Amino acid sequence: MASLDLIIPCYNEEEVLPLFYSTIQKTVQNLVNCQVRLLFVNDGSRDGTLRLLQSYAAENEQVKYISFSRNFGKEAAMLAGMRMSSAEYVGIIDADLQHSPDLIPKMLKALIEEDYDIAAAKRVDRKGEGKVISGFSALFYKMINRISDANIEDGAQDFRIMKRKVVDAVLDMPEYNRFSKGIFSWVGFRTKWFPHENSKRAAGKTKWSFWKLLSYAVDGIINFSTVPMKVSFICGSFSSFVGIIYAAYIFVRTLIYGSDVPGYPSIICAVLVIGGFILLSLGILGEYISRIYMEVKQRPNYIIDETNILPEKHQKN
Ligand code: UDP
Ligand code: MG
Repeated sequence: MASLDLIIPCYNEEEVLPLFYSTIQKTVQNLVNCQVRLLFVNDGSRDGTLRLLQSYAAENEQVKYISFSRNFGKEAAMLAGMRMSSAEYVGIIDADLQHSPDLIPKMLKALIEEDYDIAAAKRVDRKGEGKVISGFSALFYKMINRISDANIEDGAQDFRIMKRKVVDAVLDMPEYNRFSKGIFSWVGFRTKWFPHENSKRAAGKTKWSFWKLLSYAVDGIINFSTVPMKVSFICGSFSSFVGIIYAAYIFVRTLIYGSDVPGYPSIICAVLVIGGFILLSLGILGEYISRIYMEVKQRPNYIIDETNILPEKHQKN
């Protein structure tokens, strides 16, 4: 019999959890020949999420949960879930019912019968999303695919089911800064994409704002590419080249016509442009260095406060 662990990251989801739980129960009951566990990860919710999870776990032994000591973010929650998982197939699904559980049986079938290693949902439209955000995210995918060695599908979602070997490969990547979209594609394997409608959240609020998305995009680029550093190298070289030519021109001109005082505007321009390049390059370097700093510290990605799973498997950070 096949076994499936479904990871569900939850952050302040008390409004939608009861509906999610009853929906997923129905899906799970229809999966004959498959033993399913629901691994809820409570990512430091400040509402009644944990109490709900405890009550589900008390009535249903298929329900497991880990609860973090504070909010560590969805990346950390997914990582904790994968570390806890032991099943042959491991899935990740949001708690807000934007990822429709109906896809789960189809995804499993693709893995079991069609010999795919990953079955993942891919957004087909951007309904219910602002124009600005859609535009920016299209730009982001274009850029990251051009400058990094991870080939990220536009619209790829975290909603997926993977074979054990894929999860093990993902867990073998020891980095602290985890950009899952990139990691999932970087490890490779055969993926079947399932077109998936963007539906509205069933209840509760999204945790994303424009700025959070922007910093997520920067994270993705910095984590999977060193091209920005090369860009600042190229800009720097170019402006030094222009500077040298200009200096030579001034030298020759002074020899021929003698020195005169004007030139104030051109100096200011040069100072501004070069100063700008220097600061920009320092900023880009800083982004990389701050990540190296976090990696070197080797802090755990999350801290577990409470769980109903045996501790030895997932405590390793
Ligand atoms: N989530 C989480 N930690 C966070 C933010 C979100 O575990 O810090 C969970 C959240 O509970 C949900 C999923 O990640 O199950 C997706 O979050 P959300 O619906 O806010 O994102 P969106 O669907 O808008 O991208
Ligand atoms: Mg959502």
